[in-house]
Amino acid sequence: NKTITLNSRPVGKPQLSDFKFVEEEMPVLKEGEVILKTKFVSVDPYLRGRMSDAKSYVPPFELQKVISSGVVAEVTESQNEKFKVGDFVSGMLNWKEFQTSTGENLLKIDDQIAPLSNYLGVLGMTGLTAYFGLTEIGKPQKGETLVVSGAAGAVGSIVGQIGKILGCRVIGIAGTDEKVEMLKSKFGFDEAINYKTTSDMTTAIAEVCPDGVDVYFDNVGGTISDSVHANINRLGRIIVCGAISAYNDTSVPQGPRVEHFLIRKSALMQGFIVGNYAEKFPEGMKHLSQWLSEGKLTYSETIVEGFENIPQAFIDLFEGKNKGKMIVKI
Ligand code: NDP
Repeated sequence: NKTITLNSRPVGKPQLSDFKFVEEEMPVLKEGEVILKTKFVSVDPYLRGRMSDAKSYVPPFELQKVISSGVVAEVTESQNEKFKVGDFVSGMLNWKEFQTSTGENLLKIDDQIAPLSNYLGVLGMTGLTAYFGLTEIGKPQKGETLVVSGAAGAVGSIVGQIGKILGCRVIGIAGTDEKVEMLKSKFGFDEAINYKTTSDMTTAIAEVCPDGVDVYFDNVGGTISDSVHANINRLGRIIVCGAISAYNDTSVPQGPRVEHFLIRKSALMQGFIVGNYAEKFPEGMKHLSQWLSEGKLTYSETIVEGFENIPQAFIDLFEGKNKGKMIVKI
């Protein structure tokens, strides 16, 4: 039974040597438990934080201990009356080919409703992050301008589409021309900017946002955000979802220069973690699955095959190798 442990805490960009493959005995079923066979593994930028030993809202991974993330698995043996063999579940599970579970915090999922991988993306934490960050903090109004950074990624691509559903003008920022094209043709963004080939982002944003920026959904932080902040409107809302541009920094990055945009524009800037809205998850899921079934929402998944490729797929997030949700199929 293959497992993946944290071999060393990454310094800067994570390396393959920070991960270790360990063979262990196949798990043995105990009373009340199920045995799970891993089918899909979610790799996410936030896992980088858990690989450091800094204090955060989730405890750090321990060295030489197995890593965990969102996983979709199949029940292969069961001594738990709530689950039968052949059921599919999702939950925060270990990077192991097979593992036992008491069934606690496992969610039963249905491959007749949606492909299993969707429960790690558009119908999982990703979709919920997009939905609640945008609606609860951004509160976009019809006709407003929404800018999304990390727009071609898992969360960003859903945010932009929800913005369109809610009647906004939506502008995306992403790192390749292919992604810029996809944002417009596949996800219905009104405009998109390649931040890697644009020298003056502040001017570029001003050009595509002639009425300024009312809502900014920030997945990346850093200088990209500086240039969006410079265009924020009075009473604008800035949703701080993530800051991937700083996750591999070895020193604390400089913060935003708040006087310029927060005070003068009476703007709101708020961070969040999706778990804050746990009680409302059913409401979020209802909207996301309805929009999906009505064809108002679509998604992209980059599916990498093979348990042995989980660490590389994770590392590749920092190179922008994914379009939409990065998932490993086992
Ligand atoms: P993505 O699918 O967006 O993958 C990461 C993307 O980030 C890459 O594809 C890449 O796209 C971009 N990127 C990588 N490095 C940089 C950089 N230095 N500067 C700018 N862009 C970069 O991941 P997710 O959708 O899963 O997550 C997006 C953000 O949301 C992350 O910051 C994550 O931590 C955060 N998050 C927050 C949650 C919360 O509860 N607050 C929950 C889930 C996610 P490109 O080619 O465009 O550079």
